[in-house]
Amino acid sequence: AAKQRQSGSMVYDAALDKGSQQSLSLLSELRRAIENQELCLYLQPKIDIRTHEAVSAEALVRWLHPVRGLVPPMQFIPFAEQTGFISELTRWVIAEAARAIRQAADAGIALRLSVNLSTRDLLGPDLPSRMAGLLAEQRVQPSSLCLEITESAIMDDPQRALATLEQLSSMGFKLSIDDFGTGYSSLAYLKRLPVDELKIDKSFVLAMEHDLDDAKIVRSTIELAHNLGLTVVAEGVETSKAWQLLAALGCDEGQGYFISRPMPQGEFRDWLDRWALPELG
Ligand code: C2E
Ligand code: CA
Ligand code: CA
Ligand code: CA
Repeated sequence: AAKQRQSGSMVYDAALDKGSQQSLSLLSELRRAIENQELCLYLQPKIDIRTHEAVSAEALVRWLHPVRGLVPPMQFIPFAEQTGFISELTRWVIAEAARAIRQAADAGIALRLSVNLSTRDLLGPDLPSRMAGLLAEQRVQPSSLCLEITESAIMDDPQRALATLEQLSSMGFKLSIDDFGTGYSSLAYLKRLPVDELKIDKSFVLAMEHDLDDAKIVRSTIELAHNLGLTVVAEGVETSKAWQLLAALGCDEGQGYFISRPMPQGEFRDWLDRWALPELG
């Protein structure tokens, strides 16, 4: 148990050993986490690079574990995906995001949120109607929600993914391809997908200041997105230099530590009130 506490990834690795005692207990802990309200959504702003407007935010799940403290998503999302618990978790995320959008609307703020979906979510048959129901409960329009989906989730079963995405898009949800450039989606598919946004993976954005190849990949992705009529977002914007480079390349939106780390919803409100672009050094 002492070891488990030291390293979250050890908990997760051990738990992945299917049928093990840990796997069962992690699963029941996760179930309890939802019941006991140990999960919460942190929000990270997305900024319009031209107007400096805070246009929306990405919702990122955190687990405030009573013993282990703040557990990052990479220590339980893959496990939730493997065990099928992810559908329950995603339902919680959507409901919570809808609640946050409703709260903001009641305070006069038109908040748009992005949430992350997993492969399983996309392949399950009832995702669109389930999500519509969760939003309707809070009187939130689907257009207030952007669904971030990775290339690999789409390429897992492209036919089915395409059908689901078309349904979601026709219902008014915004769709975004997350981690763009790291998967294997073909350009032929990209052209057919009803997406609104490409998110350049942070590995390229983090490296572009020092690596000319990465800078070229970022530049071509921005061009590709614009040629296809899509909004392009850079994630992992950590420095003033990266921000300025992206501005020069015509990138639409930026997200990253240069602007803000993901923060609890209460803090996000105050942040919005005080937000101004940091000094460009
Ligand atoms: P992602 O969707 O690619 O999310 C971006 C990750 O990059 C987040 O990590 C965010 O905190 C981090 N990040 C943001 N700005 C910067 C930056 O400037 N520099 C660097 N180095 N990192 C930055 P986080 O919150 O730990 O989430 C990790 C991954 O967990 C996410 O990657 C996503 O795949 C998954 N995830 C998070 N929340 C959810 C969720 O509610 N549902 C699902 N299915 N997956 C989620
Ligand atoms: Ca994402
Ligand atoms: Ca990403
Ligand atoms: Ca990622």
